[in-house]
Amino acid sequence: MRAPVLIVALSLMLALPAWAQKAIGPHGEKAAIALTYDDALPSQLDIAIPQLDAAQLKGTFFLIGREIKGNLLRWKQASAGGHELGNHSVTHACPKALFPMPPQYMSENSSVAVQLTEIETMNNLLQAIDGRNEHAYATPCGQTLAGGEDYLPALRTARLTRYVRAAGEAGDGTAPIDPFVVPSRFFGQGDTGETMITYVDGIRRRGGVAVIGFHGVGGDYLEVTAEAHRQLLAWLQAHRSEVWVGGFTEVLDRATGKR
Ligand SMILES: [Zn+2]
Repeated sequence: MRAPVLIVALSLMLALPAWAQKAIGPHGEKAAIALTYDDALPSQLDIAIPQLDAAQLKGTFFLIGREIKGNLLRWKQASAGGHELGNHSVTHACPKALFPMPPQYMSENSSVAVQLTEIETMNNLLQAIDGRNEHAYATPCGQTLAGGEDYLPALRTARLTRYVRAAGEAGDGTAPIDPFVVPSRFFGQGDTGETMITYVDGIRRRGGVAVIGFHGVGGDYLEVTAEAHRQLLAWLQAHRSEVWVGGFTEVLDRATGKR
């Protein structure tokens, strides 16, 4: 569930060192990749996480509060296994034009105050699951309008999160980044293992940071096939001396010099 968004360089953009020139990973790797998965989909529990575990790689899962019923224990186990849980709001408010949904989930019917309350409530729920007091946030449908007003300015000062993943093109991975508009490259239906490997190999060659987004893996919707996902992970595992795969928050912390 996402929409193409125009990533706008906002006034709080941080000027970061040229990533290509410096080591980002914990062992001197010059390229870092965060694998992120949205919407708390069962195929992520059934297929993506077992594949990640087999490849000894960690992913970040942006959970929707209203979608985790029945799988709380499995998400808790995923966190205990080293995967990161992130905040994707409670109701996942999206513009009504994108797909059919009940009116209470339409972003047009929300407000800045409601959206910030959702993010705070989801942080509390995530803390109950993983014990952590800080969580990254991913914008539902890649947009930040609530009741016609942009809630991102309020979120920047609300101290509810340090990093916000957007859903938009990631460029070449070496550009300065706004921590509240972190670009991402989504893969879905029709994207092959080869397509994804070509992308991450570009990051390997240039150095820098890339955030990859998925929905379903071998099921659910907007999915990549299980085999394509496995091929990507196999490549990442084989190139781990050059490309560090980390949780979204740790990748951003390292990229912004906080670790
Ligand atoms: Zn979503």
